[in-house]
Amino acid sequence: MLDLESLFKLSYPMCILSSKKDGRLNGCIVNTIFQVVPEPPMLALSLNRECLTHEYVTDSKVIAVSILSEEAPLPFIGRFGFRSGRDIDKFDKVRYRIGQTGVPIVLDNTVGFLEAEVTKAIEVVTHTLFMAKIVACQTLDDSKPPVTYAYYRDVKHGRTPKSAATYIKKKPNTKLAKGVQNMKKYKCLMCGYVYDPAVGDPDNSVEPGTAFDDLPDDWVCPDCGAGKDEFEPIED
Ligand code: FE
Repeated sequence: MLDLESLFKLSYPMCILSSKKDGRLNGCIVNTIFQVVPEPPMLALSLNRECLTHEYVTDSKVIAVSILSEEAPLPFIGRFGFRSGRDIDKFDKVRYRIGQTGVPIVLDNTVGFLEAEVTKAIEVVTHTLFMAKIVACQTLDDSKPPVTYAYYRDVKHGRTPKSAATYIKKKPNTKLAKGVQNMKKYKCLMCGYVYDPAVGDPDNSVEPGTAFDDLPDDWVCPDCGAGKDEFEPIED
């Protein structure tokens, strides 16, 4: 028996992993970071090799881990989690400061940070497990709890991008409801995700054949967390 959903019971902290390369900055959401040994303090993290941040970490060998608050809005998480630094400057309009390793520490919606130097990289199928020695760390806000992966999924109804170490694939129901061909597709203005009524949103229990107008009012873009009012119809 391989009930992969039981892996959601492992509740990880959600963080922005940032790094640098050739004077450029980038970061992504990582929820697979843990401390390995107490002395010297070291952490390990898993990162998809296709991520731009992976390229930066491999090049500079320095990272910052900015720990997100429970209050971090979904579009903010989506900006780092579902968009690529190949398309946008993720740090544009985000408050940050450059840490002692030269990488950005995010100051918006975070409760603390760690800076670390990579000491080892182990290839694991599609991902790399990086070991890193912590060289600086600080609590930024003691009044708010950090957001765990379970809280993000169960309370904030956030989703997991395909590149994440914790992504679990779900099969869409391909049976089409009558009239679905006449239903309009809608595009998220925040991230470009397209809601297709023929597909629905199987990860969030929206059946194929559901028109955009019939989505619940609290439905959000599965990729970035934007509300329904951030969508516009795609004209044929
Ligand atoms: Fe979106």
